[in-house]
Amino acid sequence: MSFTKNALITGSTSGIGLGIAKEFAKNGYNLMLNGLEPNGAEIAAQVAAEFGVKVLFSGANMLKPEEIQQMVKTAQTELGGLGVVVNNAGVQFVSPVEDFPDDKWNLIIGVNLSSTFHVSKAAWNGMKDQKFGRIINITSAHGLRASAFKSAYVAAKHGVTGLTKVLALEGAPYNITCNAIAPGYVRTPLVEGQIKDQAKAHNMSEEEVIEKVMLVKQAIKDFVPIETLAAAALLMASEKAATMTGITLPIEGGWTSQ
Ligand code: NAD
Repeated sequence: MSFTKNALITGSTSGIGLGIAKEFAKNGYNLMLNGLEPNGAEIAAQVAAEFGVKVLFSGANMLKPEEIQQMVKTAQTELGGLGVVVNNAGVQFVSPVEDFPDDKWNLIIGVNLSSTFHVSKAAWNGMKDQKFGRIINITSAHGLRASAFKSAYVAAKHGVTGLTKVLALEGAPYNITCNAIAPGYVRTPLVEGQIKDQAKAHNMSEEEVIEKVMLVKQAIKDFVPIETLAAAALLMASEKAATMTGITLPIEGGWTSQ
């Protein structure tokens, strides 16, 4: 068994992924960052300088399996093996089902669900050979519960919850674990966009949307801090989490207790 402190985090040039990347860097992980932000390479250089670890960047599009394979190969070669994958990249679109654009459905299933499969598949044999692998999927409270108007997102995130269990079963003989984290609302660019859209749709102020629409299902009426998610990911990535596998850990202010 070789504990490999190298991690690839998809969608890590913004929001939750960037928060997880910084927590891993702080704890001595070398990283491959990924995302569509045009200043991705700069962000990687900043994280490297701040924490004194090696940080690579790939702009691989999570809709393109061949770009994913290349990203994983580069991480394996240049970091000296890949121990941890955090499948975090995600997008959102909200619409009643009858108007839901087909291209938005394909986009959300592609980025939020299929890329989790393609990245995990590409990293799998390396993890198997080194007898160490930690796959961490960022799903959502919407991987466990539904909300109206989020057909593609809820379908994709429920899919990730299921895929997490399958990878846990297949990885068990090789010291590969697979777990998911299901956040409630986290104040990131993805949610800022939703606050604005919902304010328009409901003809409410942004404060009213947060209180009456967004956090209505959470028992704790606060956004989930990125630090809490990053701490959970770090635990799942660790050697001591070897028998923690197949779980979806809700960190959602009590949403799914109802
Ligand atoms: P964000 O918009 O801040 O970041 C998303 C990241 O994904 C960015 O780096 C973006 O470049 C990347 N990305 C999007 N499409 C991509 C593509 N085709 N190829 C490569 N990268 C791509 O969003 P966030 O809020 O930090 O969300 C991160 C994850 O957490 C998502 O999977 C999201 O569904 C999940 N999540 C978020 C919340 C929340 O309240 N913010 C709640 C539950 C789950």
